[in-house]
Amino acid sequence: MTEFELIRQYFANSKVNHSETVLGVGDDAAVVDIPDGYQLVTSVDSMLENVHFPATTPAQNIGRKLAAVNISDIAAMGGRARWATLAISMPSYNQIWLEAFSKGLSEMFAKYDIELIGGDTTQGPLSLSLQIMGLVESGQAITRSGAKTDHNIYVSGTLGDAAIGLQHALNKPFKYLLNKDFLIKKLEQPTPRTELGAKLVGVASSCIDISDGLLSELTHISRASNVGIEINLDQIPLSEQYKQYLEQGGDYQFALTGGDDYELCFTAPLEKHDQIMQLANTCGISVSQIGQTTNTQELCLKMNGEPVELDQYQFGYQHFNQK
Ligand code: ADP
Ligand code: MG
Repeated sequence: MTEFELIRQYFANSKVNHSETVLGVGDDAAVVDIPDGYQLVTSVDSMLENVHFPATTPAQNIGRKLAAVNISDIAAMGGRARWATLAISMPSYNQIWLEAFSKGLSEMFAKYDIELIGGDTTQGPLSLSLQIMGLVESGQAITRSGAKTDHNIYVSGTLGDAAIGLQHALNKPFKYLLNKDFLIKKLEQPTPRTELGAKLVGVASSCIDISDGLLSELTHISRASNVGIEINLDQIPLSEQYKQYLEQGGDYQFALTGGDDYELCFTAPLEKHDQIMQLANTCGISVSQIGQTTNTQELCLKMNGEPVELDQYQFGYQHFNQK
């Protein structure tokens, strides 16, 4: 199969076709219209075997996750994802792998209303990059830099499950008795919080998605907004599985620093609290208040009102400059 046949078979037939798309797959570049009153919000995320996913990950879930992590970035900006381009490098033409990967990807694109409008296909080590483009009302993107002192800090969903799932997926020695399928599903099939992200426009003062662990993301908000952070460990939302892990002697490390949750972490003025609870309800997801911003430059943790030592927690995954 030639490169062109491969593209035609697996990537040229987007199920979603937006009216703003002037030209999709097939030319040197794609062309789209940006509707009046909107701005383009765009991001790219790559996934490499053994860096972002274990080699044993089913190809369909790699496709799903590649879509999810990118959609999540647009959601964190308060935008709505509309288009994507895909750069894929693979060692050889593997029909079974491609079939499953493109199925996972297009399933997510159909679900989240995203049109694949182009890409690049090369031979080499397995590497997948998705560029995602979305629309946000002009001037309304929610950045990391808008938090002020004494704003509430919130997270959606529950934290830490994906990181425990990774221990299972990597077959690390893990003495706790937990529901492995649930945890690996949280790792391999994260749910981007698209509705919540879009509804937070005009409500949240800052927002970030949790890809590298809560504390790491909060450090970004703290630096960008010039505020301190105070988090109450007892308010961190945990799944039933995570609670069982705690009961069996586990700690908060995965919930605080484990990556891959793809929940939204955001801040808002106190008077927005009821509105936030209501819109979480409308979206059918849980949102928990976990702390406040402060006028210090510090990140501090509390448990039932008492300070907790932070040094024990190693911060998010960094590709370079590892300690
Ligand atoms: P060019 O050489 O001009 O960059 P290509 O031959 O690489 O174009 O690609 C032909 C068309 O197929 C282009 O429209 C490109 O965007 C699209 N395409 C290539 N690879 C992919 C892919 N993996 N997924 C989606 N579209 C792709
Ligand atoms: Mg060309």
